[in-house]
Amino acid sequence: MAKRIFVVEDNALNLRLFCDLLAAHGHETCAVRDGREAFAKALDYLPDLIITDIQLPYVSGFDLIRQFRQEETLAHVPIMAVTAYAGPGDEERIRAAGANIYVSKPISVVKFMAVVNDLFALSAGKSHDDSDPEEVASA
Ligand code: MN
Repeated sequence: MAKRIFVVEDNALNLRLFCDLLAAHGHETCAVRDGREAFAKALDYLPDLIITDIQLPYVSGFDLIRQFRQEETLAHVPIMAVTAYAGPGDEERIRAAGANIYVSKPISVVKFMAVVNDLFALSAGKSHDDSDPEEVASA
């Protein structure tokens, strides 16, 4: 089923790649290159998934992720962070900010779509009333 995916990425080529890939898999995208516009646009778009770059001009991807998590209407939307410079400790920082997962750039097309589908499966699992709470907690 088509999903609404919000993409924050300042690099035009990466942005195009992500959006083309997601569109080719039947999803709708809303793209933002300027991180300063990201929060208001995400609130307006109400996506099923947020994909955000970490290295953005003007705004840190970490701060953006924290902002999304603090906003009630976006708090439960899965977040996938993409970064070209994941050093030691960065994965923990990205997760601590509130992202579900990070993928390093340059992306592998197969890995990228696999992660997107995993995140949709995760959020679908969370909405089942009869799901085993322990199973969900460990997902
Ligand atoms: Mn960037």
